[in-house]
Amino acid sequence: MTIQSPCFAGIDAGGTTFKCGVSDVDGNLLNKHRVRVTTPEETLSACAEYFKSVTSKSNLKAMGIASFGPIDIDRTSKTYGTILATPKPNWAGTDLRGFFSDALATETIVDTDVNGALLAEMTTGAAQGASSAVYMTIGTGIGAGIYLNGHFAGQPTHPEFGHIPMNRHPDDTSFAGICPFHGDCLEGLASVTALRARWGEPKDLPPDHQGWVIAADYLAQACRVLTLTLRVERIILGGGLMLAPHLLDMVRSAYDRQMANYLGDRTIAGRTLIDRPALGDDAGLCGALLLASQHQ
Ligand code: ZN
Repeated sequence: MTIQSPCFAGIDAGGTTFKCGVSDVDGNLLNKHRVRVTTPEETLSACAEYFKSVTSKSNLKAMGIASFGPIDIDRTSKTYGTILATPKPNWAGTDLRGFFSDALATETIVDTDVNGALLAEMTTGAAQGASSAVYMTIGTGIGAGIYLNGHFAGQPTHPEFGHIPMNRHPDDTSFAGICPFHGDCLEGLASVTALRARWGEPKDLPPDHQGWVIAADYLAQACRVLTLTLRVERIILGGGLMLAPHLLDMVRSAYDRQMANYLGDRTIAGRTLIDRPALGDDAGLCGALLLASQHQ
């Protein structure tokens, strides 16, 4: 099936899957396709084949990519759209923007996966109507996109919020943390990888396991830092760890305890401030398509 009307292409480029999709000019998703990540050559070629099969050069208006990082998102840089030093084998130096600009002959916009998801959640999701918001993903690693004062924070690069320091939970002092750079930073203590290193697969832990109390404490500290430095209106917590249904309320309660009503009447309760993504699995892809549409 070839789409016969003007459209945008988007990719949510994750570490294990590239979620590809095409939308009409009003942002309605028309078609989706998943590509499993192998080598850069195979993965990017498979994505390009898909887009060529469903779009035509004359109808494709622009492409957006919301990618795992670290990645150069500086639109004035010579290496804009290129994946930087990453532990992911073979992917460092992969020029996503150059590849798709050539393969599909269309303007290609690249940003981080969390900035893409945040843009989508602020446009049609759980942060709609907010003037400032954060999207934090808690998966293999931890990253955050931050939007305030009309911009993504950290431009022309991007925040590395997963690596902020933490106060150790009193029952978690013997674990060194898994970050190769800092040991016990936020990612080193509260990512899926960090929980797995202490207690095994997080999805197999019962809801009353103490690991959840400890993880919620660290994620609440992260939300507290965001409130006390930036006073954002919404914090969206996504990623694999947040699929545990009990975790969100545990983070909200820990956040309220830690804040200790310090902001008085201006305190935003955890249940109002902190939420899960409304767009679920489609947040990154919708964000990528929005990046393409904003280019027009
Ligand atoms: Zn770190």
